[in-house]
Amino acid sequence: MIPGRPPAAWPFRCTGCGRPYPDDRLPYCCPACGGLYDYAAPLTAHPATPPGERRGLARYADSYPFPLTEPLVSLGEGGTPLQPVGVGDRVLHFKCEHLNPTGSYKDRGSAVLVSALAAAGVSEAVEDSSGNAGASFAAYAARAGLRARVFVPAGASGPKRAQIEAYGAELVTVEGPRSEAAAAVRQAAQAGAVYASHAYLPHGLAGIATLAYELVEQLGREPGAVIVPVGHGGLLVGIQRGFEALLRAGRIDRLPRLVGVQARACAPVWAVYTSGSSGLALVQEGETRAEGIRVRFPLRGDAVLAAVEASGGTMLSVGEDELLRACDLLARTGFNVEPTSAVVWPAALEAQHELPDPLVLVLTGSGFKTPPQPSAG
Ligand SMILES: [Zn+2]
Repeated sequence: MIPGRPPAAWPFRCTGCGRPYPDDRLPYCCPACGGLYDYAAPLTAHPATPPGERRGLARYADSYPFPLTEPLVSLGEGGTPLQPVGVGDRVLHFKCEHLNPTGSYKDRGSAVLVSALAAAGVSEAVEDSSGNAGASFAAYAARAGLRARVFVPAGASGPKRAQIEAYGAELVTVEGPRSEAAAAVRQAAQAGAVYASHAYLPHGLAGIATLAYELVEQLGREPGAVIVPVGHGGLLVGIQRGFEALLRAGRIDRLPRLVGVQARACAPVWAVYTSGSSGLALVQEGETRAEGIRVRFPLRGDAVLAAVEASGGTMLSVGEDELLRACDLLARTGFNVEPTSAVVWPAALEAQHELPDPLVLVLTGSGFKTPPQPSAG
């Protein structure tokens, strides 16, 4: 047990062997079988406090099923705009998650995860993302007064690395490919460090569920469909959990169709969706500008497939030229997002005739920290 703290009753269990999450340490995966942890029971959507009293994620304080700091470790995340954009005779709704404090939707997960870690008495944690998740973790750790170490591959560079350093996190540079940095952070976790992984730990899914709560408040009803980029799958799964909680609470009539989008250069979930498990054999970790979803082995891939199928949605993949053109076009419409976010645009154009209104596209990350790219022509 963490000294001086009562054991936390974490509402998680291992998806592999069913064992509950331990109360004496904070493993990132099941020590018994290596399985991924998930919620043992569905989330509950308690009524939010009125927008005038609190803002963003703090409005849903009663909906997080484990102890958090009071107040929440916050940088003002959530409460992002929902912008209607006319396309032909249709209105699409852009959920502007790139406007979160560190420039990505990851802040919803970070606010909840770091608040939970701080409430559990954690004073130091490690992470291994050199992207949006790493920057978001570094910012919330700084806000909470947690010491943060972020393991990055030696080749990682650019604005996101600079952002992580700016928040005062210690960068640990690991020679070799990204998998070496991942191995180094797992080693640190085995040596006792808390691995505050957005991808492994389930805490943040309750934060991402607030995206569903906000959409229903902003539209005054449930969306017909929601289109999101898929990497490890936490965004799509978190949103699904949120809508399911609202359905159980009787606050919406049906679940929106969920549409997951991957870059075709690395599209394992799409491959399984379209070709079954045999599709995996052909999947490569190909080069793509959509770096945030370049995930060869998605941790929540099965959960994404189940959520998409249960909602009557679909998985789509987008080619490199298409996503770069979309990125350019979105910026020229006033939405400066990163290439990872832009995959939702060609996907919407492809599928919109089969998707009911209101149709929501989640813009996940800011274009401000995207390295300069060659023109898509
Ligand atoms: Zn297990």
